[in-house]
Amino acid sequence: MKRTEQPASSPAMQTMTSRAATTLNSAFRGGILISTNNAVVTRLVHRHGVRLGASRFVAGETLDECLPVFKRLNAQGLRINTSILGEDVQDEATATAVTDAYVDVLDRLVTEGVDGNVAVKLTHLGLNLGEAVAYQNVARLAVHARDRSTFLRIDMEESARVDATLRIYSQLRGAGHDNVGTVLQSSLYRTDDDLTELFPLRPNLRLVKGAYLEHDTVAYPKKADVDANYQRLAERMLRGGGFTAIATHDERLIAHVIAIARRDGVPRDRFEFQMLYGIRPQLQLDLVAQGYRVLVATPYGSDWYPYLMRCLAERPTNLLFFARNILRR
Ligand SMILES: Cc1cc2nc3c(=O)[nH]c(=O)nc-3n(C[C@H](O)[C@H](O)[C@H](O)COP(=O)(O)OP(=O)(O)OC[C@H]3O[C@@H](n4cnc5c(N)ncnc54)[C@H](O)[C@@H]3O)c2cc1C
Repeated sequence: MKRTEQPASSPAMQTMTSRAATTLNSAFRGGILISTNNAVVTRLVHRHGVRLGASRFVAGETLDECLPVFKRLNAQGLRINTSILGEDVQDEATATAVTDAYVDVLDRLVTEGVDGNVAVKLTHLGLNLGEAVAYQNVARLAVHARDRSTFLRIDMEESARVDATLRIYSQLRGAGHDNVGTVLQSSLYRTDDDLTELFPLRPNLRLVKGAYLEHDTVAYPKKADVDANYQRLAERMLRGGGFTAIATHDERLIAHVIAIARRDGVPRDRFEFQMLYGIRPQLQLDLVAQGYRVLVATPYGSDWYPYLMRCLAERPTNLLFFARNILRR
Protein backbone atom coordinates (compact mmCIF):
# COMPACT_ATOMS: atom_id res chain seq x y z
CA MET A 1 0.00 0.00 0.00
CA LYS A 2 1.34 3.43 -0.91
CA ARG A 3 1.77 5.85 1.98
CA THR A 4 -0.87 8.25 0.56
CA GLU A 5 -3.40 5.43 0.48
CA GLN A 6 -3.13 4.72 4.20
CA PRO A 7 -6.16 5.67 6.29
CA ALA A 8 -5.79 9.02 8.05
CA SER A 9 -5.26 8.90 11.81
CA SER A 10 -4.75 11.55 14.50
CA PRO A 11 -1.19 12.64 15.44
CA ALA A 12 -1.71 11.13 18.93
CA MET A 13 -2.76 7.82 17.42
CA GLN A 14 0.21 7.91 15.05
CA THR A 15 2.59 8.50 17.98
CA MET A 16 1.02 5.60 19.91
CA THR A 17 1.21 3.32 16.87
CA SER A 18 4.81 4.27 16.19
CA ARG A 19 5.74 3.77 19.88
CA ALA A 20 4.06 0.35 19.87
CA ALA A 21 5.89 -0.56 16.67
CA THR A 22 9.20 0.58 18.16
CA THR A 23 8.63 -1.47 21.31
CA LEU A 24 7.59 -4.52 19.29
CA ASN A 25 10.57 -4.10 16.98
CA SER A 26 13.09 -3.84 19.84
CA ALA A 27 11.49 -6.86 21.54
CA PHE A 28 11.66 -8.77 18.25
CA ARG A 29 15.29 -7.77 17.67
CA GLY A 30 16.24 -8.69 21.25
CA GLY A 31 14.45 -12.04 20.91
CA ILE A 32 16.28 -12.96 17.70
CA LEU A 33 19.67 -11.86 18.99
CA ILE A 34 19.21 -13.86 22.20
CA SER A 35 18.00 -16.92 20.28
CA THR A 36 21.24 -16.81 18.25
CA ASN A 37 22.79 -18.74 21.14
CA ASN A 38 19.92 -21.24 21.40
CA ALA A 39 21.06 -24.76 20.44
CA VAL A 40 17.80 -25.72 18.63
CA VAL A 41 17.71 -22.48 16.61
CA THR A 42 21.40 -22.87 15.78
CA ARG A 43 20.90 -26.44 14.51
CA LEU A 44 17.80 -25.56 12.49
CA VAL A 45 19.30 -22.53 10.80
CA HIS A 46 22.62 -24.27 10.13
CA ARG A 47 20.82 -27.20 8.53
CA HIS A 48 18.59 -25.11 6.25
CA GLY A 49 20.47 -21.80 6.10
CA VAL A 50 22.25 -21.00 2.87
CA ARG A 51 19.97 -23.18 0.72
CA LEU A 52 16.76 -21.67 2.03
CA GLY A 53 17.35 -18.02 2.58
CA ALA A 54 20.78 -17.01 3.83
CA SER A 55 21.91 -16.62 0.22
CA ARG A 56 19.79 -13.47 0.08
CA PHE A 57 22.24 -11.86 2.54
CA VAL A 58 25.42 -13.94 2.09
CA ALA A 59 26.95 -13.97 -1.39
CA GLY A 60 28.35 -17.50 -1.03
CA GLU A 61 30.40 -19.86 1.10
CA THR A 62 33.64 -19.56 -0.90
CA LEU A 63 35.48 -16.73 -2.62
CA ASP A 64 35.14 -18.52 -5.96
CA GLU A 65 31.36 -18.53 -5.56
CA CYS A 66 31.38 -14.82 -4.74
CA LEU A 67 33.68 -13.43 -7.41
CA PRO A 68 30.94 -13.43 -10.07
CA VAL A 69 28.68 -11.61 -7.58
CA PHE A 70 31.37 -8.96 -6.94
CA LYS A 71 31.85 -8.51 -10.68
CA ARG A 72 28.12 -8.19 -11.30
CA LEU A 73 27.90 -5.50 -8.60
CA ASN A 74 30.92 -3.69 -10.09
CA ALA A 75 29.29 -3.81 -13.53
CA GLN A 76 26.29 -2.00 -11.99
CA GLY A 77 28.55 0.81 -10.77
CA LEU A 78 28.73 -0.46 -7.17
CA ARG A 79 32.02 -0.94 -5.34
CA ILE A 80 32.20 -3.85 -2.90
CA ASN A 81 33.87 -4.68 0.32
CA THR A 82 34.08 -8.26 1.42
CA SER A 83 34.69 -10.07 4.68
CA ILE A 84 35.25 -13.67 5.56
CA LEU A 85 32.41 -14.36 7.96
CA GLY A 86 33.61 -15.31 11.41
CA GLU A 87 34.41 -13.80 14.78
CA ASP A 88 35.53 -14.66 18.31
CA VAL A 89 38.55 -16.78 17.36
CA GLN A 90 40.04 -18.34 20.52
CA ASP A 91 43.45 -19.64 19.41
CA GLU A 92 46.45 -18.08 17.74
CA ALA A 93 46.77 -20.68 14.97
CA THR A 94 43.23 -19.94 13.76
CA ALA A 95 43.83 -16.18 13.95
CA THR A 96 46.94 -16.62 11.79
CA ALA A 97 45.02 -18.84 9.36
CA VAL A 98 42.28 -16.19 9.06
CA THR A 99 44.94 -13.54 8.38
CA ASP A 100 46.51 -15.79 5.72
CA ALA A 101 43.09 -16.22 4.14
CA TYR A 102 42.61 -12.42 4.01
CA VAL A 103 46.03 -12.09 2.31
CA ASP A 104 44.70 -14.43 -0.39
CA VAL A 105 41.45 -12.46 -0.66
CA LEU A 106 43.38 -9.20 -1.17
CA ASP A 107 45.46 -10.87 -3.88
CA ARG A 108 42.43 -12.38 -5.63
CA LEU A 109 40.54 -9.06 -5.65
CA VAL A 110 43.49 -7.50 -7.46
CA THR A 111 44.14 -10.35 -9.92
CA GLU A 112 40.42 -10.65 -10.72
CA GLY A 113 40.15 -6.88 -11.26
CA VAL A 114 37.45 -6.41 -8.60
CA ASP A 115 36.81 -2.81 -7.51
CA GLY A 116 36.69 -3.37 -3.78
CA ASN A 117 38.46 -3.84 -0.48
CA VAL A 118 38.15 -5.96 2.65
CA ALA A 119 36.66 -5.36 6.09
CA VAL A 120 37.85 -7.37 9.08
CA LYS A 121 36.67 -8.02 12.62
CA LEU A 122 39.43 -7.83 15.20
CA THR A 123 38.03 -10.78 17.19
CA HIS A 124 38.42 -12.81 13.99
CA LEU A 125 42.10 -11.81 13.91
CA GLY A 126 42.70 -12.80 17.53
CA LEU A 127 41.59 -9.88 19.73
CA ASN A 128 40.39 -12.36 22.39
CA LEU A 129 44.02 -13.47 22.72
CA GLY A 130 45.21 -9.94 23.37
CA GLU A 131 45.57 -6.65 21.54
CA ALA A 132 49.12 -7.48 20.50
CA VAL A 133 47.97 -10.55 18.54
CA ALA A 134 45.19 -8.63 16.79
CA TYR A 135 47.52 -5.70 16.06
CA GLN A 136 50.19 -7.91 14.54
CA ASN A 137 47.65 -9.58 12.23
CA VAL A 138 45.80 -6.45 11.22
CA ALA A 139 49.08 -4.57 10.60
CA ARG A 140 50.19 -7.39 8.32
CA LEU A 141 46.97 -6.99 6.34
CA ALA A 142 47.35 -3.20 6.25
CA VAL A 143 50.80 -3.57 4.67
CA HIS A 144 49.53 -6.15 2.19
CA ALA A 145 46.56 -3.96 1.27
CA ARG A 146 48.79 -0.89 0.85
CA ASP A 147 51.15 -2.82 -1.46
CA ARG A 148 48.10 -3.60 -3.60
CA SER A 149 46.89 0.02 -3.46
CA THR A 150 43.80 -0.95 -1.58
CA PHE A 151 42.08 -0.19 1.68
CA LEU A 152 41.34 -2.06 4.90
CA ARG A 153 38.30 -1.41 7.08
CA ILE A 154 38.13 -2.56 10.71
CA ASP A 155 34.52 -3.32 11.60
CA MET A 156 33.19 -2.35 15.01
CA GLU A 157 31.94 -5.14 17.27
CA GLU A 158 30.03 -4.93 20.57
CA SER A 159 30.60 -2.04 22.98
CA ALA A 160 33.08 -3.99 25.13
CA ARG A 161 35.42 -4.04 22.10
CA VAL A 162 35.29 -0.34 21.24
CA ASP A 163 38.24 0.79 23.38
CA ALA A 164 40.57 -1.90 22.03
CA THR A 165 39.40 -1.36 18.44
CA LEU A 166 39.97 2.40 18.57
CA ARG A 167 43.35 1.93 20.30
CA ILE A 168 44.45 -0.46 17.55
CA TYR A 169 43.14 1.88 14.85
CA SER A 170 45.03 4.85 16.31
CA GLN A 171 48.16 2.72 16.70
CA LEU A 172 47.95 1.71 13.03
CA ARG A 173 47.54 5.30 11.92
CA GLY A 174 50.41 6.34 14.19
CA ALA A 175 52.57 3.74 12.44
CA GLY A 176 51.74 5.32 9.07
CA HIS A 177 49.01 2.93 7.89
CA ASP A 178 46.84 5.59 6.27
CA ASN A 179 44.94 3.07 4.14
CA VAL A 180 42.99 1.87 7.19
CA GLY A 181 39.58 2.98 8.44
CA THR A 182 37.21 1.91 11.16
CA VAL A 183 33.58 2.20 12.23
CA LEU A 184 31.61 4.21 14.81
CA GLN A 185 28.11 3.32 16.08
CA SER A 186 25.46 5.98 16.69
CA SER A 187 23.73 3.74 19.25
CA LEU A 188 26.51 4.31 21.80
CA TYR A 189 26.53 7.33 24.13
CA ARG A 190 30.32 7.52 23.90
CA THR A 191 30.58 7.93 20.12
CA ASP A 192 30.47 11.74 20.04
CA ASP A 193 33.56 11.82 22.30
CA ASP A 194 35.27 9.08 20.28
CA LEU A 195 34.78 11.16 17.15
CA THR A 196 36.32 14.20 18.81
CA GLU A 197 39.37 12.12 19.75
CA LEU A 198 39.72 10.66 16.26
CA PHE A 199 39.32 13.93 14.34
CA PRO A 200 43.02 14.97 14.44
CA LEU A 201 43.80 11.77 12.47
CA ARG A 202 41.51 12.90 9.59
CA PRO A 203 39.99 9.44 9.91
CA ASN A 204 38.24 7.32 7.34
CA LEU A 205 35.11 6.36 9.26
CA ARG A 206 32.06 4.30 8.49
CA LEU A 207 29.07 5.45 10.51
CA VAL A 208 26.51 2.78 11.44
CA LYS A 209 23.64 2.60 13.90
CA GLY A 210 25.04 -0.53 15.60
CA ALA A 211 24.07 -4.15 15.15
CA TYR A 212 24.58 -5.47 18.69
CA LEU A 213 22.22 -5.82 21.61
CA GLU A 214 23.57 -3.35 24.17
CA HIS A 215 22.62 -2.41 27.71
CA ASP A 216 20.99 0.99 28.26
CA THR A 217 23.93 2.00 30.44
CA VAL A 218 26.03 2.28 27.26
CA ALA A 219 23.55 2.67 24.39
CA TYR A 220 20.38 4.60 23.57
CA PRO A 221 17.47 2.24 24.18
CA LYS A 222 15.15 4.17 21.83
CA LYS A 223 15.59 3.87 18.09
CA ALA A 224 14.56 7.52 17.62
CA ASP A 225 17.57 8.59 19.72
CA VAL A 226 19.91 6.30 17.78
CA ASP A 227 18.63 7.86 14.53
CA ALA A 228 18.92 11.43 15.85
CA ASN A 229 22.47 10.73 17.02
CA TYR A 230 23.28 9.26 13.59
CA GLN A 231 22.17 12.50 11.97
CA ARG A 232 24.29 14.62 14.34
CA LEU A 233 27.37 12.43 13.93
CA ALA A 234 27.02 12.31 10.14
CA GLU A 235 26.93 16.12 10.03
CA ARG A 236 30.04 16.35 12.21
CA MET A 237 31.88 13.78 10.10
CA LEU A 238 30.99 15.47 6.81
CA ARG A 239 32.23 18.80 8.15
CA GLY A 240 35.45 17.17 9.44
CA GLY A 241 38.53 16.58 7.37
CA GLY A 242 38.35 12.84 6.81
CA PHE A 243 36.35 10.46 4.63
CA THR A 244 32.85 9.43 5.70
CA ALA A 245 31.05 6.23 4.79
CA ILE A 246 27.34 6.63 5.47
CA ALA A 247 26.39 3.00 6.10
CA THR A 248 22.62 2.83 6.40
CA HIS A 249 19.53 1.80 4.45
CA ASP A 250 17.55 4.58 6.13
CA GLU A 251 16.22 6.73 3.28
CA ARG A 252 15.46 9.66 5.55
CA LEU A 253 19.07 9.80 6.77
CA ILE A 254 20.43 9.31 3.26
CA ALA A 255 18.31 12.23 2.01
CA HIS A 256 19.52 14.34 4.93
CA VAL A 257 23.16 13.58 4.17
CA ILE A 258 22.65 14.48 0.51
CA ALA A 259 21.06 17.79 1.54
CA ILE A 260 23.86 18.62 4.01
CA ALA A 261 26.57 17.68 1.50
CA ARG A 262 24.95 19.94 -1.12
CA ARG A 263 24.46 22.79 1.32
CA ASP A 264 28.00 22.67 2.68
CA GLY A 265 29.65 21.85 -0.64
CA VAL A 266 31.12 18.54 0.56
CA PRO A 267 32.84 17.04 -2.51
CA ARG A 268 31.45 13.68 -3.65
CA ASP A 269 34.84 12.00 -3.28
CA ARG A 270 34.83 12.77 0.46
CA PHE A 271 31.93 10.50 1.31
CA GLU A 272 30.07 7.45 0.08
CA PHE A 273 26.99 5.43 0.88
CA GLN A 274 27.36 1.85 2.05
CA MET A 275 24.71 -0.83 2.27
CA LEU A 276 24.58 -4.55 2.87
CA TYR A 277 24.34 -7.12 0.10
CA GLY A 278 20.71 -8.08 -0.47
CA ILE A 279 19.22 -5.07 1.32
CA ARG A 280 17.59 -2.22 -0.63
CA PRO A 281 19.34 -3.10 -3.93
CA GLN A 282 17.21 -0.63 -5.92
CA LEU A 283 18.13 2.23 -3.57
CA GLN A 284 21.80 1.34 -4.12
CA LEU A 285 21.35 1.65 -7.90
CA ASP A 286 19.30 4.85 -7.62
CA LEU A 287 22.16 6.52 -5.71
CA VAL A 288 24.69 5.36 -8.32
CA ALA A 289 22.42 6.84 -11.02
CA GLN A 290 22.52 10.16 -9.14
CA GLY A 291 26.33 10.09 -9.29
CA TYR A 292 27.09 9.05 -5.70
CA ARG A 293 29.71 6.51 -4.67
CA VAL A 294 28.02 3.40 -3.31
CA LEU A 295 29.73 0.41 -1.74
CA VAL A 296 27.97 -2.88 -1.02
CA ALA A 297 29.29 -4.92 1.90
CA THR A 298 29.30 -8.46 0.54
CA PRO A 299 30.53 -10.98 3.11
CA TYR A 300 31.04 -14.65 2.44
CA GLY A 301 32.06 -17.85 4.18
CA SER A 302 30.82 -20.97 5.86
CA ASP A 303 30.61 -19.26 9.28
CA TRP A 304 27.60 -17.16 8.26
CA TYR A 305 25.30 -17.95 11.19
CA PRO A 306 25.81 -14.94 13.57
CA TYR A 307 25.81 -12.51 10.64
CA LEU A 308 22.60 -13.97 9.23
CA MET A 309 20.92 -13.76 12.65
CA ARG A 310 21.88 -10.07 12.95
CA CYS A 311 20.41 -9.45 9.46
CA LEU A 312 17.20 -11.27 10.35
CA ALA A 313 16.95 -9.37 13.62
CA GLU A 314 16.77 -6.02 11.82
CA ARG A 315 13.39 -6.67 10.19
CA PRO A 316 10.47 -8.94 11.12
CA THR A 317 9.81 -9.43 7.38
CA ASN A 318 13.28 -10.96 6.95
CA LEU A 319 12.41 -13.68 9.45
CA LEU A 320 9.08 -14.28 7.69
CA PHE A 321 10.92 -14.61 4.37
CA PHE A 322 13.30 -17.13 5.93
CA ALA A 323 10.55 -19.04 7.76
CA ARG A 324 8.38 -19.21 4.60
CA ASN A 325 11.26 -20.79 2.69
CA ILE A 326 11.76 -23.40 5.43
CA LEU A 327 8.01 -24.21 5.57
CA ARG A 328 7.82 -24.56 1.78
CA ARG A 329 10.16 -27.59 1.94
C1 LIG B 1 27.97 -1.42 5.01
C2 LIG B 1 27.55 -1.68 6.43
C3 LIG B 1 28.50 -2.04 7.35
C4 LIG B 1 28.14 -2.26 8.68
N1 LIG B 1 29.11 -2.49 9.60
C5 LIG B 1 28.77 -2.58 10.91
C6 LIG B 1 29.75 -2.66 11.91
O1 LIG B 1 30.96 -2.68 11.66
N2 LIG B 1 29.33 -2.75 13.23
C7 LIG B 1 27.99 -2.72 13.56
O2 LIG B 1 27.67 -2.77 14.75
N3 LIG B 1 27.05 -2.63 12.61
C8 LIG B 1 27.39 -2.57 11.31
N4 LIG B 1 26.41 -2.46 10.36
C9 LIG B 1 24.98 -2.69 10.73
C10 LIG B 1 24.30 -1.45 11.24
O3 LIG B 1 24.79 -1.14 12.53
C11 LIG B 1 22.77 -1.63 11.31
O4 LIG B 1 22.50 -2.68 12.18
C12 LIG B 1 22.11 -1.93 9.98
O5 LIG B 1 22.72 -1.21 8.95
C13 LIG B 1 20.61 -1.59 10.00
O6 LIG B 1 20.42 -0.24 10.30
P1 LIG B 1 20.02 0.88 9.23
O7 LIG B 1 21.02 1.97 9.39
O8 LIG B 1 19.93 0.35 7.87
O9 LIG B 1 18.69 1.49 9.77
P2 LIG B 1 17.29 0.87 10.22
O10 LIG B 1 16.58 1.99 10.87
O11 LIG B 1 17.47 -0.40 10.96
O12 LIG B 1 16.61 0.56 8.84
C14 LIG B 1 16.21 1.56 7.94
C15 LIG B 1 15.49 0.90 6.79
O13 LIG B 1 16.41 0.09 6.08
C16 LIG B 1 15.84 -1.14 5.70
N5 LIG B 1 16.58 -2.25 6.37
C17 LIG B 1 17.53 -2.11 7.31
N6 LIG B 1 18.06 -3.30 7.67
C18 LIG B 1 17.39 -4.20 6.95
C19 LIG B 1 17.46 -5.61 6.86
N7 LIG B 1 18.32 -6.35 7.57
N8 LIG B 1 16.63 -6.22 5.99
C20 LIG B 1 15.75 -5.51 5.25
N9 LIG B 1 15.64 -4.19 5.29
C21 LIG B 1 16.44 -3.54 6.11
C22 LIG B 1 14.41 -1.07 6.09
O14 LIG B 1 13.68 -0.54 5.02
C23 LIG B 1 14.42 -0.09 7.23
O15 LIG B 1 13.20 0.55 7.41
C24 LIG B 1 26.76 -2.19 9.05
C25 LIG B 1 25.81 -1.82 8.10
C26 LIG B 1 26.18 -1.55 6.82
C27 LIG B 1 25.13 -1.13 5.85
